[in-house]
Amino acid sequence: MRPPPLKDDCFAMPPGVDWTPVDVALTRLRDGLHTVVGSEVCTLSEVAGRILAADVIAPRSHPPFSNSAVDGYCFACADLPDTGIIELPLARGRASAGVAFDGRVPAGHALRILTGARLPGGVDTIVLEEDCTITPDRIAFRRGLKPGANMRPVGEDITAGDVIMTAGMRLRAQAAAALASTGVAQVSVYKRLRVGVLSTGDEVVTGGVADSSRIYDANRPMLLAQVAAWGCESVDLGHVRDDRAAVRQKLDAAVRQADLILTSGGASAGDEDHISAVLAESGGLQTWRIAVKPGRPLALALWAGVPVFGLPGNPVAAMVCTMIFARPAMGILGGEGWRLPETYQVPAGFSKRKKPGRREYLRARLRSGMAEIFASEGSGRVSGLAWAEGLVELPDGAVQVAPGDMVTYLPFSGM
Ligand code: AMP
Ligand code: MG
Repeated sequence: MRPPPLKDDCFAMPPGVDWTPVDVALTRLRDGLHTVVGSEVCTLSEVAGRILAADVIAPRSHPPFSNSAVDGYCFACADLPDTGIIELPLARGRASAGVAFDGRVPAGHALRILTGARLPGGVDTIVLEEDCTITPDRIAFRRGLKPGANMRPVGEDITAGDVIMTAGMRLRAQAAAALASTGVAQVSVYKRLRVGVLSTGDEVVTGGVADSSRIYDANRPMLLAQVAAWGCESVDLGHVRDDRAAVRQKLDAAVRQADLILTSGGASAGDEDHISAVLAESGGLQTWRIAVKPGRPLALALWAGVPVFGLPGNPVAAMVCTMIFARPAMGILGGEGWRLPETYQVPAGFSKRKKPGRREYLRARLRSGMAEIFASEGSGRVSGLAWAEGLVELPDGAVQVAPGDMVTYLPFSGM
């Protein structure tokens, strides 16, 4: 079933909003968007990174039958004599994994049982073989075992009919074990969100050799790699010159290939900011002046119904805006729901004074349990992007951070 289209005004800010605080921008994104991808069936070996599209109900309990957790001897606890040392005659035969013991264990007897074997009728407790003295027809062990010891009862982990995973859950490899164990062989997952990445600017070179007045395209490989790492299907939309007709043509083609388009560069309101100029033609352009550093205006629009995030051109700003704004939006569009980055309070390994008015993200990493920050805050410093393993988030208000003060750290791995 095709989800309904997004609303034309999904990025509209209330009138009068000038500098938009980060939290207001995030709330607008959360409330204006909804899931746009359909679903498909996925086998268990492919579930890692996929988003469940429907709840999963266990068809079978786990464990599906009561079984032994150890190699040892099983018996009925209630039959044990009231002595310090317990001696039991051994019943003939044994129970092993995959080969059930045929019949019941006679009262007052023990039976050889191996790990994973179905518990035979008439017994409820297992003693480890290491705790027994064993002769061909008897075992002896010390008293003190509780009823049910060393036994895994049917359904102790999962009961048939239980909802074991809910729609919107991002599946990790480990989920395959729980699914497989309850007899689920395939699940319904959302199709991967197709995220198109487009670079803009006459100074930006893609492929070939950059002459002395041009620069290599840093944003496109970075953003393509990042969206793929987030489990999306990355769609390379290439590069477009600073030319409105060319931008229009690119967007027209892009909406057929992508569910979300990330552009970088040309998103401000200057003469050469052709992304915002063209998006304005669509009628739905919203230029968000978000009170965030790094990050200039974020241009948001629907192009033929497909959301476009016009990111700043500076690689650091492009990345921060992608992680802070586009990533949570991708969660909603892709069926995972609103997902903010994981945050941790950690001691600062740096000093910094910050004025009020803008939230600030610093390239950072943890060393010896403290957050250290990259030497420069320059938003064109790509070396700091490679150096960092996360961001330190400084609040909207003024702060004065001294070494040892607690600061908020957002690891890249938790985005
Ligand atoms: P703009 O947002 O277009 O004004 O660009 C801001 C800065 O980012 C300029 O210095 C651009 O040259 C630079 N820039 C824009 N796009 C890219 C890109 N794809 N890779 C590296 N730098 C870029
Ligand atoms: Mg430009």
